[in-house]
Amino acid sequence: MRDPAEASDLLDWYDRHARDLPWRIRPQARAAGVTADPYRIWLSEIMLQQTTVAAVREYFRVFTERWPTVEDLAAAEDADVMAAWAGLGYYARARNLLKCARVVVADHGGQFPADHAELLKLPGVGPYTAAAVSAIAFDDAQVVVDGNVERVMARLHDEHTPLPEAKPILTAYAAALTPAQRPGDYAQAVMDLGATICTPKRPACGLCPWRTSCVAWAEGTAAELPKKTPKKKKPIRRGTAYLARRVDGAWLLETRPDKGLLGGMLGWPGTDWLDVTLDAPVEDPPIRAEWKTVGGEARHTFTHFHLILTVKTALVPMERNASRGEFIELSDFSPSDLPTVMRKAFDLAQGG
Ligand code: SF4
Repeated sequence: MRDPAEASDLLDWYDRHARDLPWRIRPQARAAGVTADPYRIWLSEIMLQQTTVAAVREYFRVFTERWPTVEDLAAAEDADVMAAWAGLGYYARARNLLKCARVVVADHGGQFPADHAELLKLPGVGPYTAAAVSAIAFDDAQVVVDGNVERVMARLHDEHTPLPEAKPILTAYAAALTPAQRPGDYAQAVMDLGATICTPKRPACGLCPWRTSCVAWAEGTAAELPKKTPKKKKPIRRGTAYLARRVDGAWLLETRPDKGLLGGMLGWPGTDWLDVTLDAPVEDPPIRAEWKTVGGEARHTFTHFHLILTVKTALVPMERNASRGEFIELSDFSPSDLPTVMRKAFDLAQGG
């Protein structure tokens, strides 16, 4: 450890300023012997890989009200969980979430294993999540490194090696600071520091418990750290989504194949999504109809590409059969159950 006082300075700060998070046991409660529920910690960590704390709160509330224990989640219908996950993105994670819950129930008697190596064997649990669950739920001194922690470590040590090359260096810095006492609170404290004080653009160094030992603060380099290797430009793909509505109001939807992008999710039938440098995708309407092109485009960014979707709509009679997908009654369908890109197409078709 660089200086044992550093961890305790941060823990003192955390005792006073810990954020209130629905899955968190506050430091005072923890000191009084209240322990975290590993299910809630695991669920929050999987969700937080997708988006911000602010966005996760509502998803977390819905999930934990509907499936309060890992047994409840393991027994859930796949489609219900996928629908509840809609909007969070990275749907493979939702499928792994279910798989993991079922493995915990089937192989571990409904208890998340406390052992870090066992946690790592669970579906969808990578090194970061295993370390976070070990530290936060079981107070095991694992080194937890997310984007917040990387930023804080880069600044604390004035490390100018760009990410991702800097990852092992920053992890080593984080390891040297992780204390044997209260490692769970410490892990959350560094994350809170990164989220509330040592923020990406304008760190509030005046309020920081680590200011006196922070090299970037002394050097005036905080705002430019961590350095990042410039990202390659994402390619652009295009395609067409077909939104067919039957005269009784039912919508033509299809479940996407399990493998691949948005696997297992409900969506609009459509063409392939091809790079804009290639020929336009071949039209592939799922039903014979008079298709109308909606003005504008639905745009969405995935991890590896931007997508521009042309949206076509049609009204079809009751007796007409579709070559793909099935008509879903209005009472059984809510646009909010769709993945974000599909909902954008729906919104465009609705006129905004
Ligand atoms: S002093 Fe500033 S740059 Fe250094 S760790 Fe604190 S907030 Fe971050």
